Amino acid sequence: MLTGKSIVVIGGDARHVEMMNQLIEKDATVYAIGYEELDDEIEGLFLTDVDHIPKEKIDAIILPVTGLDQKGYAEGHFAESSPQITEEWLNGFPEHCLLFTGIMTPFLSELSMFENRIIKLFDRDDVAIYNSIPTAEGTVMFAIQHTDFTIHNANVTVLGLGRVGKTLIHTFKGLGANVSVYSRHDDELARIFEYQATPIRYEELEQSLRNCNILINTIPALIVTPSLISALPKDSLIIDLASKPGGVDFRFAKKRGIKAMLAPGLPGLVASKTAGRILARVIHNIMLENA
Ligand code: NAP
Repeated sequence: MLTGKSIVVIGGDARHVEMMNQLIEKDATVYAIGYEELDDEIEGLFLTDVDHIPKEKIDAIILPVTGLDQKGYAEGHFAESSPQITEEWLNGFPEHCLLFTGIMTPFLSELSMFENRIIKLFDRDDVAIYNSIPTAEGTVMFAIQHTDFTIHNANVTVLGLGRVGKTLIHTFKGLGANVSVYSRHDDELARIFEYQATPIRYEELEQSLRNCNILINTIPALIVTPSLISALPKDSLIIDLASKPGGVDFRFAKKRGIKAMLAPGLPGLVASKTAGRILARVIHNIMLENA
C-alpha cells in the first residue's frame, strides 16, 4: 500500500488514467496536471496545475511514456494544451522524490538534481515483459485484420528472441501457427528449439521466408532488407513492431506489393487498462523499495 505517499502525474494518455485509479486504490494521494477533460471522473483524484502542487509532500512525479520534450512539454491527451515543466519548477521537491518516465529524453538527461532518481520504466525488464503480452495480442489483431487466412496452420516467422519475441512465440503457437524464429545467438537458437518452434540462422533466413505467411519483426535495426523481401510470397504480411523507424525496408516492400506495416504503441492501443495497471504495479513496487 502507498498510504501516506503523495504522487503528481503530469500529462499522459489512457494508460495513465487507469494507473492513477490503481494508485489511488493503493491509498496514495494523487495530484494530476493536464487532465482538465477528466472533470471528476476519478474519485479521490486532485485535478490541479503546476502552481498548486504541495512540492514538499511529493514522493514521486510521474511523466508520460514519452517523458518531457526539448521544451519541457509533457504530452497529454486529456487537456487542450500539454503542461510545460521547467528545470526551476522541478527544484523544490524533496531529496527522496522519484521521477518516473517511460523513456529518457535529452531534456531529462540534463536534470542534474534528479540524476540518480530518474526511473526509465520502459528500460526495465519487468515492464517490457508485462507489456509484451498486450503487444503480442495487438499483433494477433493486426494479423487477423490484414490477412484472409487463419493464423492456425499459417507459417509465422518472428525476427528476434527478445522480450517481445518470446511472447510472440507462445501466443502464435497457442493459436496453432507454425512458428519459426531468427536469432543471431546459438544459445537462443537452442531455446527456440526447446519452445518447439523452428530456429533459423541468418544464412537460412532468405530460404525459409519463401514459405512465410506472416513476418513479424522485433529487431530495432534494418533487418528486413530487399533481398529478404524478395523471398517472401506476394500475399504475405509484414508486421514491424520494432521502435521507429522499424527494421523493414518499407519502400521496397511497397514496390513489391507486399503489405507491410509499422505497428507502434500496441499496449496503449489494444489494452490501455492493462498497460495502466502494469505501470501502477511497477511504480508501486519501486516506491515501496525506496521507502
Ligand atoms: P529486446 O528484448 O531488446 O529484443 C530485441 C532483440 O533484437 C534482441 O534479442 C536482440 O538481440 C535482437 N537484435 C538487436 N539488433 C539485432 C541485429 N542487428 N541482428 C539480430 N538481432 C538483433 O526488445 P523487446 O522488448 O523485445 O522489444 C523489441 C522492439 O519492439 C523494441 O524496438 C521495442 O521498442 C519495440 N516494442 C514495440 C512495441 C509495440 O507496441 N510495437 C511494444 C513493445 C516493444 P541481441 O541480444 O543480440 O542484441
